[in-house]
Amino acid sequence: MIATTVRQQLRDYQERAVEQVLEKLDRRPILVSPTGSGKTTMATEIVERLGVPTLWMAHRKELIDQAAERLNAHGLHAGILMAGYQSDPDARVQVASVQTLVRRNKPPAGLVIVDECHHAAAETYQNILSEYTGAVLIGLTATPFRLDGRGLGDLFGEMIIAAWSDELCDSGVLHKPRVWASKAPDLRGVRVVAGDYSIGALAARTNTAELNADIVETWHKRAAGRRTVAFAVDIEHSEAITEAFRRADVPAEHLDGTTPRSERDAILQRLADGETVVVSNCMVLTEGWDLPALECAIIARPTASLNLHLQMIGRVMRACHGKDGAIVLDHAGNHHVHGLVTRRLDYTLSDEKVGFSEPLGLRRCGQCGLLFETSEPRCPECGWAPEASGGQRRRPAIHGEGELAEFDDSAFEYRRQVWVQIEAQRQAAGYKPGWSYYRFYDRFGVAPIVVADELVNPQKATPAEKAEVYREYLRIAAAKGYKPGWAAYRFRDAFGHWPRREVA
Ligand SMILES: [Zn+2]
Repeated sequence: MIATTVRQQLRDYQERAVEQVLEKLDRRPILVSPTGSGKTTMATEIVERLGVPTLWMAHRKELIDQAAERLNAHGLHAGILMAGYQSDPDARVQVASVQTLVRRNKPPAGLVIVDECHHAAAETYQNILSEYTGAVLIGLTATPFRLDGRGLGDLFGEMIIAAWSDELCDSGVLHKPRVWASKAPDLRGVRVVAGDYSIGALAARTNTAELNADIVETWHKRAAGRRTVAFAVDIEHSEAITEAFRRADVPAEHLDGTTPRSERDAILQRLADGETVVVSNCMVLTEGWDLPALECAIIARPTASLNLHLQMIGRVMRACHGKDGAIVLDHAGNHHVHGLVTRRLDYTLSDEKVGFSEPLGLRRCGQCGLLFETSEPRCPECGWAPEASGGQRRRPAIHGEGELAEFDDSAFEYRRQVWVQIEAQRQAAGYKPGWSYYRFYDRFGVAPIVVADELVNPQKATPAEKAEVYREYLRIAAAKGYKPGWAAYRFRDAFGHWPRREVA
């Protein structure tokens, strides 16, 4: 009878996902489900239905506490294997810290659950799992790919997608974030190490008085008074953001990996209570932390990792009583390369990178600046319609009537930022320049006009810049054997007029 009661608590998609996982046990499945979709609930149900001794692995204290609590609430008798906890050898489910497991005897198990299994390629996980070759293996994650974007096929054989986050937003389980992209650092030339930008170089570009002031200003405009978490690059950066908020009389606190546990809990409690409005952190509140009432995420931490992008924004999306939506203020340019978190990705188990193969389908509102999908006819925030104003039609030339008029400074500034981020991404990945041209064309339906590595505003280009662009087109025409007229046509596409005598 108890089992029946528990099953009735599952949402439809959760029940479907649990059944699919149970059908595919021999395939070492990953249960993919967005943050906030009830991943732990589904896994707990699977543990219960399988009814065998179980090892549940996680890498953070918060995740371990949560899992054990949930399992025990289901009457499943869970023990914890982690430093500082009394172990319980009789427990049917052992919830274990990865770090602890590496060093001690492994408990016997017929089922191994790997929470946040996008980490599972790490050697520590591999060493542990090699002792459980006879057990059923199930991975759990919201982001089924490693930090460098590659798939998890070396350990898992199947992906079961419980739900897509856009579906969960439509059904009210999650809030679809309203995203504003603001000033972002120029990351061109910053190196990528192990799938992400090197922190030192990132901090130097990101932690500037100008950008930090812009963070506070934008927050006042878009999210004033809302419970907010800011994601910073490093400790110094996080402290600087906290300080900038305090100077503006906003109650703000900082925390990082060295903050004592009791202090961290107190800070987060003050955030929950509303006594503190902004908590700034670096790499602490990404996984395994959950405050459903969180209303705003400030992304000040640029990342080349799609995984980290999704993890950060996942924090703010959970629906909860009395919350009127989720706001994301992107000061890192992350949306320019990774897009909205509600878009569906082509997940793969293979070694290919996830996420960069498709156009982002992203548009910036010409009126309020919100980022939204090109599939939407109007801005969901203010109702601005790109078609009516001729804003961002997909056509190869920028000179279409109405389009130049619409192409104001803020629109150009947005394009410039996108260009800079795409270029940083390209350089970090070591792709050829053509890659950036393609990406840009995908986004805006026009080719970027670039002089000396900078995007040129066609409306404000100087005669010297135009001359340079024309010379470049002539060079391309010569190199590729096109007729000279090709350069003139391209020039007209770029600037809306034929090359004049002074240009030629
Ligand atoms: Zn708008």
